Amino acid sequence: MAKNELNAREAFNKILSSMEAHHEVMKNALPMIASENVPSPVVREALASDFGNRYAEGWVGERVYAGCRYLDEVEAIAIELGKKLFHAEFIDVRPVSGVFANLAAFSAFANPGDLVLSCTIPTGGHISHAKKTLGGTAGAIRDLDVQNYPFDEENFNIDVDKTISLVKELDSKGKKPKIFILGASVFLFPHPVKEIVELAKTYDSKVLYDGAHVAGLIAGGIFQDPLGEGADIFTMSTHKTLAGPQHGTIASWSKYSESIKRVVFPGLSSNHHLHAVAGVAIAFAEALEFYHEYARNIVTNSKTLGQALYERGINVLYEKKGFTDSHMLLIDVTKYGNGFEIEKKLEKCNIIVNRNLLPYDKRMGRDYRAPGGIRIGTQELTRLGMGKSEMVEIADLMKSVIIDDSDPEKIRSKVAELRKNFQKVKYCFSSIHDAYDYIKIR
Ligand SMILES: *Cc1c(COP(=O)(O)O)cnc(C)c1O
Repeated sequence: MAKNELNAREAFNKILSSMEAHHEVMKNALPMIASENVPSPVVREALASDFGNRYAEGWVGERVYAGCRYLDEVEAIAIELGKKLFHAEFIDVRPVSGVFANLAAFSAFANPGDLVLSCTIPTGGHISHAKKTLGGTAGAIRDLDVQNYPFDEENFNIDVDKTISLVKELDSKGKKPKIFILGASVFLFPHPVKEIVELAKTYDSKVLYDGAHVAGLIAGGIFQDPLGEGADIFTMSTHKTLAGPQHGTIASWSKYSESIKRVVFPGLSSNHHLHAVAGVAIAFAEALEFYHEYARNIVTNSKTLGQALYERGINVLYEKKGFTDSHMLLIDVTKYGNGFEIEKKLEKCNIIVNRNLLPYDKRMGRDYRAPGGIRIGTQELTRLGMGKSEMVEIADLMKSVIIDDSDPEKIRSKVAELRKNFQKVKYCFSSIHDAYDYIKIR
């Protein structure tokens, strides 16, 4: 018994020291994973609130539990702000993540066995859009028949003409697509929403736009406007370019509200992480006030970083198209190793990126374990206040790791030096604490 107690105490201390150590790393690193961000301290306050201990099943004002007065007030505000940000008639902030939002869309608009179209993973598609054989949410969980879009590698986008032919061919075999899934995890350039909406009309199918990555850019008005371009449903994560807590949201039209509500609850949630809903409401308010500027600075930074890396001999893809229209860059690192090796090398220097498949990796016999690429995002560095000159410094640091094999210890200290003046979250109402302060309330 005494020994067990000791182990529990040791475990307890270890958990806390690991969390604190993680914060120390974050203070001194360059976080460049394209799917992450740092929320404002007030979002973290929401996450620590009692909202996270409560249930509020059902819709705002129609809950099946008591004690929901303030939970309802906050969720109603989130919905109102979300409608403004995404030009939506209907907002549901209850999906607990982007994958759940997608599963809700699949469930509202398609039945098991139905045909859907999506991008493959090497062309940017997310695992939640993928086939059964890959364990994807669409294929393996909802049992949808997933076919992939023909892809124009030259322009890193869906090939609309070939898609039209493919859909005709499928239709001639008696298979009409129920959902056209757009949006991606490697999302450099806007997808052809208008064109796919036109095509979808012919087959009476729905268009799902998965804006998990680009929701913050859309909120800032600098990427495409999916509902404005005719998409039926727009799912998102609330923690990538939209720098809120980890959660999901659905934006759509009034005519679909009842079918979406029903799948989200009771179908896909019971409690819906109300502390995160409060965080989402705060993130939406920040977006309304500050993202016009934030989103533009993100895109400027990613283009600047792309150019600076390219000039230093690093093969950033799509130079002819200005590298990117979003927060991220795709880089072919095969001249210097594979994506896994480069990811690890950079990690040793506290430059945090992730390895990624390139559209042509499969043909070259490469797979996800050691792909040919890395993916990097500028949204978190931008949120910390970095601008063009810092992007150029970062290109120098990355070059010295990737090409010159510089001493990791030296690079680590240069990274920490660069980070010194960028410790606060920008583009938010109030930021008394530093971005990565470890806040004790124990
Ligand atoms: C990140 C991502 C998601 C969902 O992620 P969650 O972690 O469940 O929020 C969905 N779709 C795409 C395209 C993504 O990149």
